[in-house]
Amino acid sequence: MAKNNEQIHIGCHLSSAGGFEKMGREALSIGADTFAFFTRNPRGGSAKEIDPADAKALRDIVTQNGFAKLVAHAPYTLNPCSATKKVRDFAHIAMADDMKRMEYLPGNYYNFHPGSHTGQGIEKGIELISELLNDIITADQTTTILFETMAGKGSEVGGRFEELAEIIGRVKLREKVGVCMDTCHVSDAGHDIINDLDGVLDEFDKIIGLDKLKALHINDSLNPAGSKKDRHARIGEGHIGKDAILNVVYDPRLIGLPCILETPHDSLEGYKKEIAMIRSGR
Ligand code: FE
Ligand code: FE
Ligand code: ZN
Repeated sequence: MAKNNEQIHIGCHLSSAGGFEKMGREALSIGADTFAFFTRNPRGGSAKEIDPADAKALRDIVTQNGFAKLVAHAPYTLNPCSATKKVRDFAHIAMADDMKRMEYLPGNYYNFHPGSHTGQGIEKGIELISELLNDIITADQTTTILFETMAGKGSEVGGRFEELAEIIGRVKLREKVGVCMDTCHVSDAGHDIINDLDGVLDEFDKIIGLDKLKALHINDSLNPAGSKKDRHARIGEGHIGKDAILNVVYDPRLIGLPCILETPHDSLEGYKKEIAMIRSGR
């Protein structure tokens, strides 16, 4: 099948330690035209002061180079449905602050892991997550908040499409939320994207609506479908395999969405090669 790679938008996670403009330049240096970055320390939660001039420099790079939307990532420690009140309070404070910070880069995406209910049950988890969203989303924010499809390990919420649909259904400002599909996570959660991508997308469409699918995390998986593990592999070095990954990226219903690689590489060079491979379509 001839692949139309002109519509492909792809990048990886970049370190925000050196500021916004640096990420923009790094993206260009590896052939990326979108990228992800943590809005604050991914395993802690502290955030650096934003320099407006630095944000403007990145906005210029993005427009001048035709980037797709950026996909910022909330810290892993952000859990709106923990049984511990302190953890839930941090989720509120951090996400509300992140929404303000994201306005330095208006109109982009902010992806987060819906959370882990830590024993309270899925229903309670969904309730707490929806509460957080209704508390912090404002009508004038330009950021769309994305829920990541999860592998369903432990007490994770978001391993089933129904759970994400339920959260979306409870959000009042529904136009401000969407979904980011992670290929490793959906496969680990038991969706057969290898042999039946069409079926998985049909199901997504029926339960959530494909209009809500805004971004993709592109990862191979160290584990077979249904393992509920969530361990990423480089493209072609896992159980999903390169062909199935390319089928996702080039699917007529998905093509054009920002694709973020979260594969394990120790240098940008590794991502540069993976991006080139995906752009070449083989
Ligand atoms: Fe993630
Ligand atoms: Fe992911
Ligand atoms: Zn993952």
